[in-house]
Amino acid sequence: MTGKIIKGIAGFYYVYVVDSGIYECKAKGAFRKEKVKPLVGDDVIIDIISEDEKTGNVVELLPRKSELIRPAVANVDQALLIFATKNPEPNLNLLDRFLCMMEEQELPIVICFNKEDIADDGFEQRMRDTYERAGYKVIFCSAKEEKGIDEIKQVLQGKTSTVAGPSGVGKSSIVNMLTEGHSMETGEVSEKIGRGKHTTRHSELLYLGEDTFIMDTPGFSSLFVPKMEPVDLYTLFPEFIEPASNCKFTGCAHDKEPKCGVKDAVSNGEIAASRYENYLQIYGEMVNERNNKYR
Ligand code: GDP
Ligand code: ZN
Repeated sequence: MTGKIIKGIAGFYYVYVVDSGIYECKAKGAFRKEKVKPLVGDDVIIDIISEDEKTGNVVELLPRKSELIRPAVANVDQALLIFATKNPEPNLNLLDRFLCMMEEQELPIVICFNKEDIADDGFEQRMRDTYERAGYKVIFCSAKEEKGIDEIKQVLQGKTSTVAGPSGVGKSSIVNMLTEGHSMETGEVSEKIGRGKHTTRHSELLYLGEDTFIMDTPGFSSLFVPKMEPVDLYTLFPEFIEPASNCKFTGCAHDKEPKCGVKDAVSNGEIAASRYENYLQIYGEMVNERNNKYR
């Protein structure tokens, strides 16, 4: 049988098989020798040990389409990033860092602003101007008023998405609405794993029907600094790339240099000021980190 690993805890893999449910599996000896560690998100072939007890062995790992490092998960198609319009006030610096992190892993991103019902006038337009210009799909929704949830379902359809956002933005409210009607499958997993094994939070894929999975991503970190050369940071800001081709100096950091295409684009409003400020801040941290390393 073919299934998908939706959770891994202490040597056990929980494999979801469409129409059959969740099997508690161990990785088989021969397969473990290959030194490939199965990840949440991996599509696998399992042998059933007991249909009654829903146990089995993972006997084969199917080829991975992709592998994310943060969070460690296979076959993710996109990231859904959730912030609130307010309460809590959106931290655009954190948002831009998260975008960098996903860009560095070449993952498509959808940005979702929840709590549309309490948004300040002009906020939606400002965010659309900022982030649609950068090429991101932006969704405004309200879990409270059940608005925009269908649009989220549409972007998730048929894909595996990692869902992330700071706490308090309404992530659980949205995830609950998305998993409604699939609670059988997800309830089953907590029942199986609920034997006091899960003391810490683990990544888990939730099945939303028809080849659609989401992963609630723990550990939303604000400390992320890209690992690349500082001079290449601008490539993680998609709307900087074209303007940067107009910079006079090769290796332009888009900071103090004259005749900088990026700074021109900020002046004429093509690049949002907040994006540029956050770029400069992250750039500064990257340079500092390197200086500390080589000191
Ligand atoms: P999480 O920490 O991101 O999982 O956020 P929760 O789903 O627990 O929601 C945090 C708070 O925001 C709760 O008090 C929710 O009732 C509230 N909330 C969630 N969605 C909305 C929304 O669309 N509009 C408003 N006004 N409040 C919301
Ligand atoms: Zn420049």
